[in-house]
Amino acid sequence: MAEEEGMKLKNIAAALAFGVLAAASGAVFADDKPTIGISMPTKSSARWIADGDNMVKTLQAKGYNTDLQYADNDIPTQLNQIENMITKKEKVLVIAAIDGTTLSNALQKAADQGIKVISYDRLIVGSPNVDYYATFDNFQVGVEQAKTLLKGLGIDQGKTGPFNIELFGGSADDNNAFFFYDGAMSVLQPLIDKGVLNVVSGQKGMDKVATLRWDAATAQSRMENLLSAYYTKKKVDAVLSPYDGISIGIISALKGVGYGSKDMPMPIISGQDAEIPSVKSIIGHEQYSTIFKDTRELAKVAANMVDAVQKGGKPEINDTKTYNNKVKIVPSYLLKPVPVDASNWKPVLVDSGYYKADQLQ
Ligand code: BGC
Repeated sequence: MAEEEGMKLKNIAAALAFGVLAAASGAVFADDKPTIGISMPTKSSARWIADGDNMVKTLQAKGYNTDLQYADNDIPTQLNQIENMITKKEKVLVIAAIDGTTLSNALQKAADQGIKVISYDRLIVGSPNVDYYATFDNFQVGVEQAKTLLKGLGIDQGKTGPFNIELFGGSADDNNAFFFYDGAMSVLQPLIDKGVLNVVSGQKGMDKVATLRWDAATAQSRMENLLSAYYTKKKVDAVLSPYDGISIGIISALKGVGYGSKDMPMPIISGQDAEIPSVKSIIGHEQYSTIFKDTRELAKVAANMVDAVQKGGKPEINDTKTYNNKVKIVPSYLLKPVPVDASNWKPVLVDSGYYKADQLQ
């Protein structure tokens, strides 16, 4: 009997010990979810906030912890944040670089620790340690931007102008900016050659038209200079703008000299990202167009890449030719950009659930 009691006690003790261990290991498991580092360039543009939020949501739903950092468009800050992620041994890094050329040393450290790197939207160049690239078809973005200008000017309906146009490019430290510009020029240059379009300032080429850090104020002051140097006796009919924030700067400069009235209608101006102020501007017939890039889809693609590399598999890709980062061709998944203007913003942006109608009022 005494022996039986003893056994019982031992069993209870063992069960308790097991329980404690199980609870402890349960806690360990809960904390043991792999952490994914997400490095985003800036909160000054709504698209990157949406990107960050969608990445966190999508990765958490797949069972990961996330460490989302924004770098205020400051290169050393982003480098610092990425180095911390590496020190913390986060499992995969998802990076939308401010300057795609500045991360090589950090990424070498990551590779030495077996940390995989996914270039998010913007290609990281000059490093062999970029495993995959999730983005939109960036050349096509430029093509679509230019095509909206032709639509707005009526060139696609046979008008021959000549129309006066000025060109703006994105930040020259962002590989995408060259793809946007080249895509746009693939459409515009033949019309410039035919004399349908006239770049009155003569300023062409990314070395002349780039806008550092995609900054609206920089674009505004360049547009002001163009207007006072070349357009006191002429009207500008169209402006190629690579990004909604830049379009806002351009529109301010134009309004400053009287555009946007009956006698001086706003030129046809493109954009990118379908940010809310610019969609409102399109609805109000100031900005002509933008390019919608569904960040929900991009997050899905990038999160699938994370999941695949984390599990030792191969992510789905659909392009193995286009994105040479100067060291290697980075296997990529390209999503399709969608042009938006006053004729289709509702089905594309509201009916798809991307925005609620009242956000655009
Ligand atoms: C992105 C664009 C964005 C731009 C400015 C580019 O790398 O692809 O969508 O407009 O950065 O943030």
